[in-house]
Amino acid sequence: MSHSSLGTALITGASAGIGATYADRLAKRGYDLLLVARDAARLKALADKLSAAHGIKAEVFQADLTNRDEVRKVEKRLREDEAITLLVNNAGIGSKTTMLEDDIDYLETMIEVNVVAVNRLGVAAAQTFAKRGKGSIINIASVVAFLAERFHGTYNATKAFVLNLTQSIHAEAGPKGVKVQAVLPGLTRTEIFERAGNSIDQLPPSMVMEVTDLVDAALAGFDQGEVVTIPSLPDPADYEALTTARHALGPNLSHNKPASRYGVA
Ligand code: NAP
Repeated sequence: MSHSSLGTALITGASAGIGATYADRLAKRGYDLLLVARDAARLKALADKLSAAHGIKAEVFQADLTNRDEVRKVEKRLREDEAITLLVNNAGIGSKTTMLEDDIDYLETMIEVNVVAVNRLGVAAAQTFAKRGKGSIINIASVVAFLAERFHGTYNATKAFVLNLTQSIHAEAGPKGVKVQAVLPGLTRTEIFERAGNSIDQLPPSMVMEVTDLVDAALAGFDQGEVVTIPSLPDPADYEALTTARHALGPNLSHNKPASRYGVA
């Protein structure tokens, strides 16, 4: 049981980087925490520190999100623990090299963490919160959702999945009282690059955001009710133009005959 009036935030990938920073910021706001990742010692150190500093309850839930049985255990807790009011669906892994050179087994592992687990927990939270008429979901996508021709095809596609899923959850569960946000970080200083055998120091410093700035901006966007938050983007009208163009396609995406340029009678 949570003893916070805000309830409990379940954060995946809470042992490092963006997830650990969400844990810090949400503890400061007064949320109790349920911290999920593989590294239980690191999670426990963070839980002890945050519960002592902020007088909240912080619990460790060790799970490997590439293991479907373990994902189901997290899902069960999410569905059954009524104290959980917020899911931060954050755990993810990056690419090691270019798509043409990458190990395809590693790419399937990436899909397990970045897509299969995110979908399982995100949809379970949407179903559970919609029944209760309240609850919030923050899904960590990436700006590469918009960069199909650059970076890494599989990683980009996992993040496009997260963005699309979030927009769909908003459309379906939003009217039932569920608050949903996709966060699209650009390059952010965390361990993700080193874990994949690369170095953040090789990237242009002007493009790399500090993780505390990223999470503070993302939470400001959450407070403002944004469904899609792009912390780096100076002018929100640029994103609104993309949304308008996308919606303009709608009436013409399914007709009973092919378009005349294909020459099919
Ligand atoms: P990070 O510092 O490497 O942290 C990743 C977190 O995910 C760790 O807590 C890790 O914990 C957890 N994780 C990884 N594999 C896991 C598994 N199999 N099971 C359970 N937990 C697992 O990376 P980050 O940059 O904070 O990444 C967080 C999210 O932000 C990811 O979804 C990433 O794609 C996204 N993102 C990052 C950037 C960036 O530039 N950093 C940009 C856009 C989007 P354990 O190792 O303890 O399991």
